[in-house]
Amino acid sequence: MAVRGVSLRQPSARDARGWNQESSLRRAMRLARIAYWESYSAAAVNFWMSPDFAALYETPPLDEFAPVAAPHNRHLIDSRDVLQAGYVACWAEGRPFAIETKLLQADGRQLDCVVHGEPEFDSDGQVRRVFGIVRDITSETSALRLLAKSEQRLADFVSTASDWCWESGPDHRLLPYPKSLDGNAALLTVASGGRARWELSYAPEEEVSMAGHRADMEARRPFRDFVYTSIGNDGSRISISTSGKPIFAEDGSFLGYRGTASDITQLEAARALLDQRTRALEEAHRLGKIGTWHHRLDTGRTVWSAELYQLLGLDPDALEPTYENTISFFLGDDARRLLKLQGRVLRSSTTEAADIRIRHADGAPRDLAIICKAEVVGGKIIGLIGTAQDVTDRKEAERRLEQLAYTDPLTGLANRALFKRKLADLFESPTSADGHALYLIDLDRFKEVNDSLGHSTGDSLLIHVAGVLRQQLGPQAFIARIGGDEFAVLADSRCAPDEAPLDLADRLIANLSVPVELAEGEACIGATIGVAVLPEHGATAEKASRNADLALYMAKESGRGRAQLFEPIYAEAVDQRLDLGRRLRHAVESGGLTTHFQPQIDLKTGRVSGFEALLRWSHPERGPISPSEFIPIAESTGLIVELGHWVLRDACRQMRVWLDAGWPRRTISVNVSPAQIWNGDFEKVVATVLAETGLPAELLCLELTESLFVDHTKQKVSQTLAALSKLGIRLALDDFGSGYSSLGYLTRLPFNCLKIDRTFVAGIATVPEKRKLLGGIIALAHGLGMCVVAEGAELAEEVDLLTMFDCDFVQGYVFAKPVAADQAVGVAGEIERERGLATARSRARRAAVPTEI
Ligand code: C2E
Ligand code: MG
Ligand code: MG
Repeated sequence: MAVRGVSLRQPSARDARGWNQESSLRRAMRLARIAYWESYSAAAVNFWMSPDFAALYETPPLDEFAPVAAPHNRHLIDSRDVLQAGYVACWAEGRPFAIETKLLQADGRQLDCVVHGEPEFDSDGQVRRVFGIVRDITSETSALRLLAKSEQRLADFVSTASDWCWESGPDHRLLPYPKSLDGNAALLTVASGGRARWELSYAPEEEVSMAGHRADMEARRPFRDFVYTSIGNDGSRISISTSGKPIFAEDGSFLGYRGTASDITQLEAARALLDQRTRALEEAHRLGKIGTWHHRLDTGRTVWSAELYQLLGLDPDALEPTYENTISFFLGDDARRLLKLQGRVLRSSTTEAADIRIRHADGAPRDLAIICKAEVVGGKIIGLIGTAQDVTDRKEAERRLEQLAYTDPLTGLANRALFKRKLADLFESPTSADGHALYLIDLDRFKEVNDSLGHSTGDSLLIHVAGVLRQQLGPQAFIARIGGDEFAVLADSRCAPDEAPLDLADRLIANLSVPVELAEGEACIGATIGVAVLPEHGATAEKASRNADLALYMAKESGRGRAQLFEPIYAEAVDQRLDLGRRLRHAVESGGLTTHFQPQIDLKTGRVSGFEALLRWSHPERGPISPSEFIPIAESTGLIVELGHWVLRDACRQMRVWLDAGWPRRTISVNVSPAQIWNGDFEKVVATVLAETGLPAELLCLELTESLFVDHTKQKVSQTLAALSKLGIRLALDDFGSGYSSLGYLTRLPFNCLKIDRTFVAGIATVPEKRKLLGGIIALAHGLGMCVVAEGAELAEEVDLLTMFDCDFVQGYVFAKPVAADQAVGVAGEIERERGLATARSRARRAAVPTEI
């Protein structure tokens, strides 16, 4: 089969070796999947095709021109029309054509083909025939499609990433970015293409590094992660990191660079922020003297921050912070404590803190506040992290403050607060109190010295006492000043080997009782000591100090100047007191108290001028209990305020009842405890009671004792007394002669009446000194404008003597004991009747009593 119209070159030397030109050409065409065709008809009715044409169109092999319809129809409809138009135009205008078509195969595949057609002209220039080829280009187009697809994928990735690729030519000018990268956000803002990188806008401060980069590129060296700041078209600064490698042609000639770049602006900003924060944190650590450390469980290694080394004055290069290397820095038990703490943190994964002490490289101790926390990753503890802050200054200040808070500034001894803590510490472990004794020391006559020689002498005396105690007890004893003239000592056998606690106490008393020569004169005091041996006399701090206190109380009761060991029987007495206190409270609340009345007789007229109201309480089991027993309990429990107000109200109410019943106007004297005056507005309470009961103020007399003036602000007392006096109430100083008997109160305060204590009155008939004193006191009181009531006269002779000394009133069993309200008026009437007779009798007796006064 001949290929018409195809001009093939002349046979060569190879033809001679049997090669046939036509068959070679056919083979080549088959390999290239090319089919030849030609046509002599403008209407494209018949074609002559090469056999390969038939294969392409899946028709049986042809020998001659065949109808075109069948193969033609194989072209897809779009391609077919274009092909038809090209063919027609070729005939009509002699224009060659090359048209890409798609050819449908029987199995449904589509082949990409290109149909070339060319006209051949006759001598008249008319198209005589059209010939051409059909070439199957499917494999090329599918490769191209694959390439385009992969380019598109790449473009998609690149346009959404901040990274991109770049290329530059031999002159280092950047090649334009492919269109597909148009969407890249970073590229939109930086100038691109046409210039070398160093010719684009970049941050002026990077000139040196850019010059270095240029030198690298000009030397055609590869580079990695060169970071520069590009100034965008809009003036924004964009950090770019780029890497590139030089490209050489096969012959070694330099073609340029290819590389990648990425926008690291955000990364750089984050890094800058991190750097800034890290620096700030480091600075804060440096300023706050905070070091950090971490320990990894897997490696067993501990790493310290530079600041921590600095805190300890150590060289990071010279010391690996292992347990063995660092244990010697810790003071006391702190290495073990810290290790235990770390163990707890690892077990419980909590955060713990502790203050420890270490020794700095300069030898000085330092305080560190440690915070330790478990490092947990994915729910698993992988190690420990912690901080150590140098808190030496704060701790020092705390220690100084604590010393101030726990030291008695006058004597330098521990104060009460420290004593309590020390005592509590002593009982912390079960046996630590063994062999100790607690001594409570009360100075005798200190108050007198203080009052008579002045406070500065008192201070010197206390300093002297502290010195004696220190000297007698030695450094092993714990000595505290726990009150004005009270001291406490905790001592064990080291302070006084072979000396029993009571002997030691006696030795202290002996040494404290030696007269002291002070600048202001000689002072002679003594001491009384209560001793509790631990733990027998108290298994807790509270019990120990309560029992030592009880022993001291007992020692004082039995005459002071002696030492007393605690005995359990004292505790029983105290328990009884407590029980009594509870029952008394109940009696106050449930109305179990009554008021009795004891008449006061006017010696001049023989009339009952008034009554003293005296409280009575009948204990449910013990029967009547003396006020001398229960009033001190009420005073020590604070119940006295309530109790006192109750009596005041009851007595005034009773007096009003008697007045209303038409009985003579008499005064009512009510005892007032100091606490009632010290606590709050007593004058208001009294005014309210008077208003409530309607008792005229001048009929009320309040009896106060000298204990009112002890230890409390004189101002408050004198203000209250003045206010009471202003209300028109009479004030009497009770029990005169039983206490300090300081006449100073009488001159300064508005007392109307002086009540001479029973102990003073008893025996005046037989003891001449008492008579003398009594006469003097009565005269003095009268001189100060006060009337005098003598208490406790039991004998008629005493009454006669008192009458002779011009005493105004007498209250005593000689006339009547205190009686209940319903008997009082009757008793008063009897007294007045009898008094009329007695006056006559006593006149007769007067000649028989001693006249010496
Ligand atoms: P006081 O105020 O000095 O009362 C006088 C005490 O002497 C009363 O004792 C009275 O019964 C007693 N007395 C009077 N004449 C004689 C006498 O000739 N011989 C003897 N042996 N005693 C006589 P009482 O009632 O036992 O009261 C004792 C103390 O209790 C009172 O002493 C007073 O200090 C206190 N007291 C009593 N009632 C109250 C009260 O309501 N309030 C307060 N704060 N104290 C009270
Ligand atoms: Mg009284
Ligand atoms: Mg009295």
